[in-house]
Amino acid sequence: MKVPFLDLQASYLEIKEEIDAAVQRVLMSGQYILGQEVEAFESEWAQYCQADQAVSVGNGLDALRFTLMAMGIGPGDEVIVPAHTFIASWLAISQCGATPIAIEPDPHTLNIDCTKVESAIGDKTRAIMAVHLYGQPADMDSIHEIADRHQLRVIEDAAQSHGARYKNKVIGSHSDAVAWSFYPGKNLGAMGDGGAVTTNNRAIADKIRLLRNYGSEAKYKNEIQGFNSRLDPIQAAILRVKLKYLDLWNLRRKAIAEIYLKQINENFVIKPSTPQWVDSAWHLFVIQHAQRDRLKAELDTFEINTLVHYPTPPHKQIAYSDSIRHRGILPITEKISNTVLSLPIGPHLSMECVEFVVSTLNAVLPKI
Ligand SMILES: *Cc1c(COP(=O)(O)O)cnc(C)c1O
Repeated sequence: MKVPFLDLQASYLEIKEEIDAAVQRVLMSGQYILGQEVEAFESEWAQYCQADQAVSVGNGLDALRFTLMAMGIGPGDEVIVPAHTFIASWLAISQCGATPIAIEPDPHTLNIDCTKVESAIGDKTRAIMAVHLYGQPADMDSIHEIADRHQLRVIEDAAQSHGARYKNKVIGSHSDAVAWSFYPGKNLGAMGDGGAVTTNNRAIADKIRLLRNYGSEAKYKNEIQGFNSRLDPIQAAILRVKLKYLDLWNLRRKAIAEIYLKQINENFVIKPSTPQWVDSAWHLFVIQHAQRDRLKAELDTFEINTLVHYPTPPHKQIAYSDSIRHRGILPITEKISNTVLSLPIGPHLSMECVEFVVSTLNAVLPKI
């Protein structure tokens, strides 16, 4: 039995007729940039997120970058960010000229350790970026409490947490602005690139609308030096179809996660720990093992496809080799990058596959 990490073709096939009709509708419309389809998706996504506004953009990185820019964050400013995250969280900060200040993860949840945030705040700190890694919401109340005390902005990188809940409220409007990616492998994924920002702040939304479109609201009137980063109407139409399935598909992920949590032998691996107040979107199911590479290779021989999120933390990347600030001071992050392993999970992973992963893991683990 071959167990794929994530089967995107199967996702398409389940809703092929609706997707094909949506794509056809855009092709026939003659409107290929912005327009009605994009606006309809924006209002449906805002509603899902319980936010006043959603502004779509070309990808998740731009959603983060434009949000920071719309908050006026730039050269000389510092933004608090998790050390253990996908590099896009950091790049967004660097690309607007600000400096990422990395915080170690909580060793249990692997999200930002809120007890370590306050000591990293200084005169130049302007914002805290929370990342809901692997689909599990960060501790937003603690983050907001710290941010309020120091008058900092809060931005959420929600690229992995579509449909996740923090204290029974869906992620999307807990903070000043929430940035989304619709990269194909995300819980709500397009069939190409896509991104959005949800917010209750009118000024931030308006500024991002300018930034994504040459700094222009009305054609040939350029108010700021903007970019070209818009959600494609074909992708918007596809996302409108897939949004209808998000909750159902997240439930399937949750069912898989529950089997893994219950049945994987906990004497040999660390399983994800989920605080009571979160409802994870289970974007990824990440276990930890000291001999991670050996375990991964062993699972490969059974054709069980696993991935590592992420093998090299941002501060250890060549891209950040000039950032000496973080050298040697992030031992938890560096350890985690050597122990994490993401098991197959997704809305189209069969229960036979899930049982095979469990039985193979439990057979292999005692020998490693
Ligand atoms: C996917 C992802 C992004 C970037 O999204 P893109 O659409 O690929 O630019 C940012 N942050 C996190 C945590 C992600 O997983």
